[in-house]
Amino acid sequence: MAFETKEEVFERVIQQDRPLCKYCHREMSLWEAPDIVIDDGLGWGTPYMFVCFNDDCPLYRQGWDNIKENYGRTASYRCICYPGTETYECMSVYGPQGGMGQIVDAKALARRREIEEKIQQGLSTLERCIAENDDATALELLTDAAEPTRVRVKAAEVMGDVAGVDAVEPLRSRKFGNDILRKKVDAAVDKIHERHFTRECPFCAEVIKRRAKICKHCGQTLPA
Ligand SMILES: [Zn+2]
Ligand SMILES: [Zn+2]
Repeated sequence: MAFETKEEVFERVIQQDRPLCKYCHREMSLWEAPDIVIDDGLGWGTPYMFVCFNDDCPLYRQGWDNIKENYGRTASYRCICYPGTETYECMSVYGPQGGMGQIVDAKALARRREIEEKIQQGLSTLERCIAENDDATALELLTDAAEPTRVRVKAAEVMGDVAGVDAVEPLRSRKFGNDILRKKVDAAVDKIHERHFTRECPFCAEVIKRRAKICKHCGQTLPA
């Protein structure tokens, strides 16, 4: 099977009919597999699964007693089903809330849609920034941690294309937790220098002409 991104898998499974639990015949919930390694060391093998979270499901109700008797632990099972298959398995849970945090419910879907909208909005704002040479707005989007990463990455590119040398300092001095973003911002600064025939003085960090042999700010002799 061709490699699918998590987003692509999501688009696919969200359109599938939800299977019915093998034990209670209730519709199962779409569930996002947590990003952890399980017993076999292989992980879940799929980012999304269907899980029966019915507390009256016989598998779940009897599971508490079975596990207590056999292993002396307080835990039970939920029935899981791999998307697009008839394969049902059991997943251990350690309390009634176990695993519920990963249910992809209506709220999660709404949130996802919200993010998609925010991306569209951000990208079209950035289109306008390019058309109008508006580096102030692009910088705002770039530095706003509430913006989706895709918008911020694009904003960094736009800064490279439209910003003046005044933007070098705010771009350099800003901390970015995200590595991809930091690299994009550094590339944008390189591009700004390229467009303005400038560089930063290695001694005082002021922006100077690329051709300068002595820094006009700190007076140091510059390496060629
Ligand atoms: Zn069930
Ligand atoms: Zn200098």
